Amino acid sequence: MASVSIRKLDIEFGSIKVIRELDLEIAEGEFIVLLGPSGCGKSTLLNAVAGLLDVAGGQIWIGGKNVTWEEPKDRGIGMVFQSYALYPRMTVRGNLTFGLKMARTPKADIEARVAKAAKILQIEPLLERRPSELSGGQRQRVAIGRALVRDVDVFLFDEPLSNLDAKLRTELRVEIKRLHHELGSTMIYVTHDQIEALTLADRIAVMNGGIIQQLASPKEIYRRPINRFVAGFVGSPA
Ligand code: ADP
Ligand code: MG
Repeated sequence: MASVSIRKLDIEFGSIKVIRELDLEIAEGEFIVLLGPSGCGKSTLLNAVAGLLDVAGGQIWIGGKNVTWEEPKDRGIGMVFQSYALYPRMTVRGNLTFGLKMARTPKADIEARVAKAAKILQIEPLLERRPSELSGGQRQRVAIGRALVRDVDVFLFDEPLSNLDAKLRTELRVEIKRLHHELGSTMIYVTHDQIEALTLADRIAVMNGGIIQQLASPKEIYRRPINRFVAGFVGSPA
């Protein structure tokens, strides 16, 4: 696990500022949810932490290290997207081990990590199958597994449950919560779903227009929204 510190972050696409002087301090092992309507800049912020886009100003620190200009692979992060982005021609095992093989991880180590991740995510019976033979929920578990085997300090989730039906969504939400308890890793989780935010988060950052409107515990946000936007967004049904 690692702390994440976002300092005066600016992100621009052309002349449009999408993230504006954003500050966010995330403690080691904390589960932070970025909650806000479509287009408010959640994915942009997450992608910046992941190192997938350049920042126009400000800094990002992970685990006490300034990573603002580090490559994604050197940031100690693992990312899980809304679409699972699994390699279709590889088995589940292949999908889980590919990154480790590229990093020249010793074979015995790879096997131990896959066994552990498969057990935690309950995908042991699926290891020799291909993504096309899996349900949406199973695919998303494999996608989480890919971050898990890499032993990352920080998990980044971008609406990982949006493509799943309601029942699976609830099920995987519980799994992700359990995963957090079990690993104690720092997690940054993007969603536009109020229920997900309220049930998963240690703290919620409610975003709108590239700005954090309120940063507080679910209880605090729900009971004492700081302005009309937060009240309307968290209070209205999903
Ligand atoms: P969210 O994830 O909260 O739905 P995004 O972070 O994807 O929002 O987008 C925030 C804003 O930035 C939106 O107005 C979007 O159109 C714009 N945007 C995102 N990515 C790009 C890009 N690559 N080029 C130009 N504009 C972008
Ligand atoms: Mg998004």
